[in-house]
Amino acid sequence: MQTDVTRMRNVAIVAHVDHGKTSLVDQLLKQSGLFRDNEQIHERALDSNDLERERGITILAKTTSIPYKDYRINLVDTPGHADFSGEVERIVKMVDGVLLVVDAFEGVMPQTRFVLEKALSAGLVPVVVVNKMDRPNARPAEVIDEVLDLFIDLGANEDQLEFPVVYTSAILGTATDDPSVPGTNMEPLFQAIIEHIPAPDVDVSGPLQWQVTMLDYNEYLGRIGIGRIARGVLRQGETVALIQRDGTVVQKRIQKLFAHQGLRRIEVNEAFAGDIVAVAGIPEIMVGETVADPANADPLPLLRIDEPTLEMT
Ligand code: GDP
Repeated sequence: MQTDVTRMRNVAIVAHVDHGKTSLVDQLLKQSGLFRDNEQIHERALDSNDLERERGITILAKTTSIPYKDYRINLVDTPGHADFSGEVERIVKMVDGVLLVVDAFEGVMPQTRFVLEKALSAGLVPVVVVNKMDRPNARPAEVIDEVLDLFIDLGANEDQLEFPVVYTSAILGTATDDPSVPGTNMEPLFQAIIEHIPAPDVDVSGPLQWQVTMLDYNEYLGRIGIGRIARGVLRQGETVALIQRDGTVVQKRIQKLFAHQGLRRIEVNEAFAGDIVAVAGIPEIMVGETVADPANADPLPLLRIDEPTLEMT
């Protein structure tokens, strides 16, 4: 497990539906060395929960953790539908950068606008990924113009307007910085992530603070809270203060702690500030709540919740 925060990258991946998020994550995983060349990725990176139910506690996550050289990249999927704008907003607050994936033929679409607006207002500088460069009708220069217009329209700041661009074919497994030079592998995309997305700016030695950004459910474990550790170290088995949305503080035990490895969540004994982890065993846990050191029970600012699914949980 990577514990050096300077070698960690937390990245949201945003796109209009079908522009290739899942295929890109599959390729990054394939080329990361996490899987042997002859080993197939049976599950698609960001897709359904069927396998997760079958396996019990080996849960497929919305976060895919990819090793690259001595770095670890946590890629967080985001919902493309406007009903989930609260979730997108919370995810972009939890990460330090975003990959904006745009189809090289279709260009900017309604959901591209919606997700980019969230990323820009969170202050993130997106890495623009023009995908499907293998399509015979790809028109990357025009698509970049459309993206630039959209940035301007959404009031992007100067840094954001300098967005780096990587041209990819998730189908061929290639990426390039220069659309006139074909790529040979995904290396330029890995490089852009490492170079342009900052490491988390966190204090690992301070008192614990962890905030729930998303919820998940598993029939063996019950409700699962997912979020980034904002400060300190989170340990399995330890007693923590849960600061509820109304300010009530209750003592809880961290029964199960999971970090991410590839497509899976794996149980770990401890995890450090900057990392995105999942916690099971607190059945009433809610989005926006803070888990803290009982001696320093300070809440993080509450997060907006407005998506329909949370009302059902
Ligand atoms: P998502 O909805 O953004 O996760 O998109 P997917 O990764 O599921 O891709 C949507 C469709 O586009 C699938 O049929 C993919 O095979 C196809 N696709 C994804 N990337 C590429 C690419 O680089 N080139 C081509 N030609 N098709 C692609």
